Amino acid sequence: MSLRPQDIFNYSDITDECIKCGKCIPVCTIHNVNADEVTSPRGFLDLLGAYHKGDLELDKNAKNIFESCFLCTACVEVCPKSLPTDMVIEQVRADIGKKFGIAWYKKLFFLLLRHRWLNDVAFKLGWVFQTCGFKIQSDIDSMNSRFNLPMLKVDRLLPSLKKVSFLNQHKKELIDNGGKRRVAIFIGCLGNYNYVNVGNSLLEILEYLGIDAFLAKDQKCCSAPAYFTGDFDTVDYNAKFNIEYFESFSKDVEAIIVPEATCSAMLKIDYEHYFHNQSEWRDRAIALKSKIFMATEWLEKHTELNSILATKKKDVRNVTYHDPCHARKMQGLYKEPRELISKNYDIVEMSDPNTCCGFGGVTMQSEKYEFAKAAGLPKAAMIKDTNAHFVSSECSACRMQINASMNYVDAPQIFKNPIELIAEALKS
Ligand code: SF4
Ligand code: SF4
Repeated sequence: MSLRPQDIFNYSDITDECIKCGKCIPVCTIHNVNADEVTSPRGFLDLLGAYHKGDLELDKNAKNIFESCFLCTACVEVCPKSLPTDMVIEQVRADIGKKFGIAWYKKLFFLLLRHRWLNDVAFKLGWVFQTCGFKIQSDIDSMNSRFNLPMLKVDRLLPSLKKVSFLNQHKKELIDNGGKRRVAIFIGCLGNYNYVNVGNSLLEILEYLGIDAFLAKDQKCCSAPAYFTGDFDTVDYNAKFNIEYFESFSKDVEAIIVPEATCSAMLKIDYEHYFHNQSEWRDRAIALKSKIFMATEWLEKHTELNSILATKKKDVRNVTYHDPCHARKMQGLYKEPRELISKNYDIVEMSDPNTCCGFGGVTMQSEKYEFAKAAGLPKAAMIKDTNAHFVSSECSACRMQINASMNYVDAPQIFKNPIELIAEALKS
């Protein structure tokens, strides 16, 4: 069944389509850590149908159930009807946000995501004070709390903050590498404020290839964290801003490249879904899709990088690659990063690279962290079992979750975005 975005949101039709075959149950991330029919794709669809028909009140219990989905899309991938359970849950979370309000700390976080200058100030203050409350592990861009607090535990790793963000580290907005070709970079918030080596590695690769880099410094958060939490006001604000902004320079660049699975999926796929009932904006989002690429996708398909890497030394350290849900399941991208990495590193596959890491979004990482932790442990164990030197994934949300999970099981692997591995290989 092929669904148009506008059909997806007639969700009583979607929920009635479920044939209860149960194929989605074994792959469902929440069902694997909370084995209850109501927290399974089939159960969610039943409840969503009842809610839509007016047979289920959206009370605290229903809210709790609908907020426990990881939005990993594993169910969609295996469903014989391709039922978009994740998208229907995204819609009902907007109703939850309207009925119950968004928690104050999430509202504050989303306010920062709307205004880069405010975010810059907040993260700078965070950098100044982070050593008071946290122990910094600079070799892995992480930190852990010095005290046990309701949502912060001493054994939980979080990303540490950088003194200067990636976008502010570079005074020039256009980096001239010869003027023959030009791409724009969309860096994402974790890449901008926490894992800044990803963006700098991407600049090194573009310099090597002689491709100009436009940093698009006015870019706002893609708004994925707000979308998954049901704060549609923030999505509307940021998505419209980004679409207008991208239109202002899209004719001057070959592509807008994004070294982040979640941000690229949000810009390329979820904007269209979000604007399903705003036709002008939906059309403008669709018009930009052909310009937006995950970074390894564009580099592998549209440059000579593969053959250049083949002339470089093979590293003795091997790599295991985790597939972000927003790359493999949503965009079908899993060969491209492996193709590039494998030129200079042996890849040793973990037992199931396509299993969700268990990040799950803002609510899962705060109020429901026990689920995120439980879903992360098997992923960390399978990474550890590979005995690889590096674990790689083109997603900073996966990086945050995998680093935290590996810390619980003493996995020795070092996390690198494939862009960082490639930049290192080019120096050999
Ligand atoms: S999106 Fe993931 S967690 Fe949610 S129902 Fe589907 S498989 Fe389960
Ligand atoms: S795989 Fe699809 S049709 Fe089968 S139970 Fe799950 S949601 Fe329903």
